Amino acid sequence: MKSKTHAYPSVQLFIGGEWVNSKEHLEIVNPSDENQIGLLPVVNKEQLDSALSAAQEGFAIWSRTAPLERSRVILDASRLMRERCEEIAQSISLELGKPIRQSRLEVIRGCEFFEWDAAEGQRLYGRVIPSALHMRNLVLRQPIGCVASFSPWNFPMSQPARKIAGALASGCSVILKPAEQTPAGSIHIARAFEDAGLPPGVLNLVFGQPADISEYLIPREEIRLVAFTGSTAVGRSLTMLASANMTPVLMELGGHAPVIVCDDVDAASAGAVSAIRKMRNAGQVCTSPTRFYVHEKLYPDFADSFMQQIETMKVGDGLSEDTDMGPVAHLGRIEALQGLVDDATERGARLLTGGLRRKGKGYFFEPTVLSEVPDDAQIMQVEPFGPVAVLNPVASLDKGIEMANSVPYGLAAYAFTHSAANVDRLINEMEAGNLSINTLEASLPETPFGGVKASGYGREGGDEGLLHYTVVKNVMHRIGI
Ligand code: NAD
Repeated sequence: MKSKTHAYPSVQLFIGGEWVNSKEHLEIVNPSDENQIGLLPVVNKEQLDSALSAAQEGFAIWSRTAPLERSRVILDASRLMRERCEEIAQSISLELGKPIRQSRLEVIRGCEFFEWDAAEGQRLYGRVIPSALHMRNLVLRQPIGCVASFSPWNFPMSQPARKIAGALASGCSVILKPAEQTPAGSIHIARAFEDAGLPPGVLNLVFGQPADISEYLIPREEIRLVAFTGSTAVGRSLTMLASANMTPVLMELGGHAPVIVCDDVDAASAGAVSAIRKMRNAGQVCTSPTRFYVHEKLYPDFADSFMQQIETMKVGDGLSEDTDMGPVAHLGRIEALQGLVDDATERGARLLTGGLRRKGKGYFFEPTVLSEVPDDAQIMQVEPFGPVAVLNPVASLDKGIEMANSVPYGLAAYAFTHSAANVDRLINEMEAGNLSINTLEASLPETPFGGVKASGYGREGGDEGLLHYTVVKNVMHRIGI
């Protein structure tokens, strides 16, 4: 049965519990056909000041709300989002071109983030330190305050969800700036929280030019934490801005995930699952498996099976039920991908398939596979963040690990092997915040996710995820004097 068609939501700022508009707007475009689907209000400085005041007022209420009650509101909002899953998923597919089946899964994933954090927020335990007679030393974890959060466009619902969930479950208030290309997920989240009875000012949404907003908000003393997901270059500049005030940061930045395929696995199965995972969300995932280092013994079978899978993929409009891969998010991504592919082939890489923008409307870049890519090609260092895979044969696990670690990034890393000895080496030697073996899943609500090296610091998810949203207070209490 065909699903009901929902309209793209009206995008407004959400400040102090009110929906407000703005005089200036940017276009929101469907990357599948380049048509305008909505208008994004550009926040002005007075509205940012209002958001800061509202977030402070929100914090005063929310931080004093019992954790059980905070959890109830978050769970109510999550239930509403589950009920509205189809509407939210359609908005995501319209603004990002993501295949609708993947958009539905994203909505559910976002709800799971809320549900895990809602429960975990009730367990922000401190401790009692054994002390001298008549002395008590209590260690408490208290909400850090008002958080400035910045979420990217590649997961319009689950990325804002992760940021909002961590903050709200810990008792903080938030001013969130979602990505300008994909605001709808955050609009649906804010609507659900409004309907669930979240006090005004606890969650605020602002939209506009990213640098204008971050440069205004981050230096303000009302902001006690900066949480960002996006590129390493932007993360670095926001970290420098925050350092002027000694404001802590939570940085989830780029990745360039390696996959080591050892000689003891079924090459055809590993090749097939790798191709599907690589092209998920048109490769625009910070954990996307990209640099495949395949043992030379298995390489031909792995590459054959990878290619067979790629050739069956249907590329098209995100709203079509049978689409496997949609367009990339914006024109800038096409230009970046073309540059990386051309550079690799000029340096001697073999282009097994793809490599070009598809003719006609929409920002479609063909699923692309490069093989035998030389080490000096830019793509071996620069994250493509798109539907481009690199397949390179390696002679040993030593070489695979050396190449895997040869980039500035260290977010997700993967391996296929059944050998306990190989796994032991991978655990000890891979430079990554997340290592997945025989699965290309890198993150769950209950597991801590984040990077090492230029992939940032801090963790989202798991009980570690809420730590950043709290500060530790030690209370030393002498009974009587
Ligand atoms: P980009 O760095 O220009 O933008 C990425 C995100 O950062 C956008 O959502 C944008 O709104 C935000 N941003 C940009 N400048 C900002 C500023 N000064 N202050 C606050 N926010 C700002 O890159 P792009 O071409 O749109 O995206 C591709 C790159 O982004 C990739 O190379 C990838 O590393 C990174 N990215 C990473 C993730 C992730 O999950 N880690 C997600 C999306 C994008």
